[in-house]
Amino acid sequence: MSVSGLCQICEAKEGRFTCDNCGAFVCEDHYDRTEGLCADCLRLVRGGDEDRPGGRDGPDTADGEDDVGDGDPGPVSD
Ligand SMILES: [Zn+2]
Ligand SMILES: [Zn+2]
Repeated sequence: MSVSGLCQICEAKEGRFTCDNCGAFVCEDHYDRTEGLCADCLRLVRGGDEDRPGGRDGPDTADGEDDVGDGDPGPVSD
């Protein structure tokens, strides 16, 4: 038993670190020592913090629906 396993992300390099979040065994290329996370979790953490899809998608959809209803009563003369 010389090698315990390969990086679970690239499966090319030898795994050396364990992600603090998901416990994935990853190589140094796919591990952030500062955060203690694997590349997968690092992307989720950073992406969710910057993009904020839920905050933007919510109000945008509600605004569009409200706009359609507001313009309808105008042209309707029947
Ligand atoms: Zn890797
Ligand atoms: Zn992870």
